[in-house]
This record gives sequence, structure tokens and C-alpha cells, in this order.
Amino acid sequence: MAGRRGPGTLGRAIAAFVLTASLSAVCVGEAPRTPACALARGELTVEDLPAGSSVRDCRAVGRVVTHDGAGLAVPEPGTTVSVDALTADGSAQDFTMAVAADGRVSYAYDADHARARPRRRADAPAPCADGAYVTAGRKEYGTYEWFLGDGPLPAHLSRAEVRHAFEAAVAAITAGRNDCGYEDTVTVRARYLSTTDHEAGIDREARCVRRDGLNVWDAGDIGPEAVATTCSWSRPVPDGPDELLEADVRFNTHDYAFTDQPSDACTRAYDLRSVATHEAGHVFGLGHAGEGHENLTMYASSFACSTAARTLGKGDVLGLRSLY
Ligand SMILES: [Zn+2]
Repeated sequence: MAGRRGPGTLGRAIAAFVLTASLSAVCVGEAPRTPACALARGELTVEDLPAGSSVRDCRAVGRVVTHDGAGLAVPEPGTTVSVDALTADGSAQDFTMAVAADGRVSYAYDADHARARPRRRADAPAPCADGAYVTAGRKEYGTYEWFLGDGPLPAHLSRAEVRHAFEAAVAAITAGRNDCGYEDTVTVRARYLSTTDHEAGIDREARCVRRDGLNVWDAGDIGPEAVATTCSWSRPVPDGPDELLEADVRFNTHDYAFTDQPSDACTRAYDLRSVATHEAGHVFGLGHAGEGHENLTMYASSFACSTAARTLGKGDVLGLRSLY
């Protein structure tokens, strides 16, 4: 018994010593150092919380950080958050913030085609001749189970009709639907669950501000720039893309009109299923195809009255195949 008590006593002695040592460091050490990081009140920019700084030192979790018109709330350590806005004018607003498990911050921006103006689609390669794609470094490893919000809806449609349109859009991605002759080899799955009184975690300036554990598609006011926005949260996976934790989608019914069936008289309404297919592409890990790829579903801008993005182009399919 003495042999057992010995190490225990030693352990307590060491613990007491460590406690004493740390107390003395606090009480009798040098004058208190200034905090490693002191953030101003209000919204922050990436200059306020630069890459390499620590969200722990800066107590930054939950604070809003903006860059070039895009914004998001700082996620918990071990989490990455991305905002992807689909605009009417080709000005990509893509912004990603990764917080490592130790709290260190890093960013990714879509600098290349920020403020690019779309060219005429007639000047861009045809969808089946354009193999360009960008992946976002994350994917759905299981089944994307999603909800439809119980609030406002786009296109003056019934909830059942909107659900049907969104399901078709999600299926276009999970089935790799295309008119280019590519077989469906995409293995990821999705399932609609129900309506919910939860909302997409996207605020009135299209910022990714809240992760509540539910994948919600809904509509509302996200500021005048974005036709629709996807927010996604993910976490690192060894030797693979990040694992998607949550992806929310919101359609901007405050500033844009949508239709499920553009008529010949359509001048400015956005095809709901085309926009939804693009957003579903983000949900499943695709980024924006850049300038010069105006005929791909994942081009950063949406074209009013066009249903072309309902089916995928070559690059959209190749991007999905690279992930799944
Ligand atoms: Zn987009």
C-alpha cells in the first residue's frame, strides 16, 4: 500500500508546487503585461485581426470581420467559415476565414475576379467545352440533410413548389446533371427533411453570422449586392478536404425578383432553379469559376431570365468528380 500511496503523494506535491509557482508568477511577477491583442469595439476588418493572430488572445470568437464587402462572424477554433455571394454584376464576394485548433487565424479571398465584369456569354466557351472549375477545400462526407425555412419565399410560389425547385437544384448537383454526355459518377447524397422555424445564419448584409446545426434554405434581405448567398462551416480532415458541418442558403427577395419559369416577357427576374443549382454547388464544395467562364453554373454572376445554370457545364461536373 505504501508503494501506491507514494506516487500519489508525489503527484500532489508536484501539483502544489506548480500551483505555488504559477501564483507567484501572477502575484509577484513583473508589472502586468498589456494584453497580446486588444480589439476595438464594433465591426473588424482583416487588418484588425490579421492572419497569424489568435482568436483566443484577441477574444475574437463571434466578432464580425469584413473584407471587401463580405463579412462573417469569427468561428470557434477548429472551424472554417466561408461566404459565397452570387451577384448580378459579376463582382465576386467570396471570403473564407479559418481558425486553427490553437486559435490562429488565416484567410482566403477570391481576389482574382473581384469586381470582374461579366462578358457576353456568347464570347465565353460553351458549357460543354469549358472544363474550368474551382473547389472550395470542403465537401459533404455524408448526407446533406436540409430544411426549408417557414418565412418568406421567392417567386410567389407555394412552399411545396419552392421545395420542389430546391430539391431539383440539389439533385442537379448530387446527380451531376448535364447535357454534355457525362455519366453520373457523383456519389454524394442529400435529403430534404422538413420546414423549420430556424433561419439561415445570414444577416442583412449577407454575412455568415450564426451556425445553429441546421442546414436551412430560406429567403430575405441580404443587402443589395447579392442575388443569393451561401454560408458554409467546415472543419479540417487529415489528408482530405474539410468536412462540411453546415451550409445555409438565402435568396434575396428584398432586392431581386425570381421566377420558376422565365417567360418570353421576362426582363429581370432570376430563374429560381438556376440560382439554387449554383448555390447547391457551393454547398457541396464548388467555388466560383472565374471571368471568361460565363456559361458554367459556377460562374460568379447570375443572368436574369436564363435557365442555363439548371444543368451543369463540363467544369462543374469535373469539379464535382474531383470531390466525389
Ligand atoms: Zn456563388
